[in-house]
Amino acid sequence: MTALITRDELAEDLSRIGLERGDAVVLHSSLRSMGRVDGGPETVIATLRDVLGPNGLLVAPTYTYWTQHFDPSIEPSLTGRITEAIRLSPGAVRSWHPTHSVAAIGNGAAALCAGHHLVGAVSRGSPLDRLAARGGKVLLLGVGHVANSTIHVGEVHANVPYLDIPFSADSFRAATVITPSGDVQVEIVQPSGCSRAFGAIEHALRRRDAIGDGLIGMAVSQLMRGRDVIEAVIDLLQADPTALLCTDPDSYRCAQARVRLEHRRFARRDAVR
Ligand SMILES: [Zn+2]
Repeated sequence: MTALITRDELAEDLSRIGLERGDAVVLHSSLRSMGRVDGGPETVIATLRDVLGPNGLLVAPTYTYWTQHFDPSIEPSLTGRITEAIRLSPGAVRSWHPTHSVAAIGNGAAALCAGHHLVGAVSRGSPLDRLAARGGKVLLLGVGHVANSTIHVGEVHANVPYLDIPFSADSFRAATVITPSGDVQVEIVQPSGCSRAFGAIEHALRRRDAIGDGLIGMAVSQLMRGRDVIEAVIDLLQADPTALLCTDPDSYRCAQARVRLEHRRFARRDAVR
């Protein structure tokens, strides 16, 4: 039986990894990886809010993935227990993107989330893009870069030619968002793709000395700036446009993206002949 992790210990761990008062941060998390936290996910959230202070902003993915009729007020988050607890926290705002909503608490939460259903999940003007632009950080708490959605924002900034390819062949292209003022039909644009190969960014970020490492509870964790993630992705994809595509034959998005990149390569080669 391992010891209970207390709120004081958590606060110390969060400060040690580099989280500061007034920070805006998106949290990707695995509660189970932390060990036994006294008070569970509510303690994790309360401690984060303490460390960030009244001017801080805490953001979490509350993705629902397959919701073609999305009611932001009731649909549970499928991205972990901490994210669901953030969604249910008093004062939390949830964006209206039908498949990749986020929840935010704190300074600027409403402005960050506004209009998310009108743009792509991770497009320019999406909450994670706005967060990076305002100097926000990314905290990977017991999860790897496969969970780091800001890498998808980087793919958009790099303008890779596969942004329109959906996650799977049967992904839906439109959805209904149920809002307080009625149903809104939205088009799914720039669907956030496959992240299985996103571990490739870690080396590039470490070369830039952009990652703070630490344990939070028992969870192996990393803290970085969203802007650094986006810049590292742009550099990586300029050198090799396939760098973030997996080779899993089951990944429709990555397989289709490879075919497209290959066609473009041949087309370019023929053009210079
Ligand atoms: Zn893939």
